Amino acid sequence: MLNIQAVPALIDNYIWLIHSVDSNEIIIVDPGDATPVIKVITEQHLSPVAILNTHYHYDHVDGIAELVDRYQLPVYGPPNSFVPRLSTSLSATDKLSVHPKFPDFEVLEIPGHTATHIAYRVHDMVFCGDTLFASGCGRLLGGTAEQLFNSLQQICSLPTETKIYCGHEYTQSNLKFALKVEPNNIAIKQRIEDSKKLRAANLPTLPTTIAEELTTNPFLRCDQAEVIQAAQRFTGTKLTNPLAVFTALRAWKDRP
Ligand SMILES: [Zn+2]
Repeated sequence: MLNIQAVPALIDNYIWLIHSVDSNEIIIVDPGDATPVIKVITEQHLSPVAILNTHYHYDHVDGIAELVDRYQLPVYGPPNSFVPRLSTSLSATDKLSVHPKFPDFEVLEIPGHTATHIAYRVHDMVFCGDTLFASGCGRLLGGTAEQLFNSLQQICSLPTETKIYCGHEYTQSNLKFALKVEPNNIAIKQRIEDSKKLRAANLPTLPTTIAEELTTNPFLRCDQAEVIQAAQRFTGTKLTNPLAVFTALRAWKDRP
């Protein structure tokens, strides 16, 4: 058992702290800002042991240097020279043993949002950065639509109860788009209500689960008739496979 704590950062990022249960040791995932992490560490008398990074974007790495200087932590991440202080670059074949107080992590290669993007899986949890969001997915900022499509499929092939810890609180805006794509989807309507309540109480809408995503995330529903029809209305052409539908949805959502 591990406990997970969300540290809200920057505008809408979450830095995830993975707590070992019987000690004060933590692992920090994607510190885009050191200040809120140092505050929590100090207030709760925590002892950080490592940083896990999913991808190189500033809002996932900008706190790394300060945290490493202060706590002398190893930094794990994808093979990308823009990840500061990277001590070990990881690929999908690696089993990551961070510290004796923590179980091994499995590394997933999930390119698409960026060309090198990884996720960390431990027990029934996945830390997936900006690849999968609640009812949405990352934008294409370096990878291809096909890569992102395949990465999402890879994540969704995990057991449906798997908890997904995403990099941003984007759920409400994603759900607006999801409802545009599937105006008759009851699960989306219910999730809009649930998210409203959570956000009104200043609580994260995360983690999500694969089961929830399979019913409310249009980007994972590219084989559903209503989603195909909506995507075809957007492109004005017949879309003959799920990747084409996915590519159309991504372009539609990106439109200002
Ligand atoms: Zn990003």
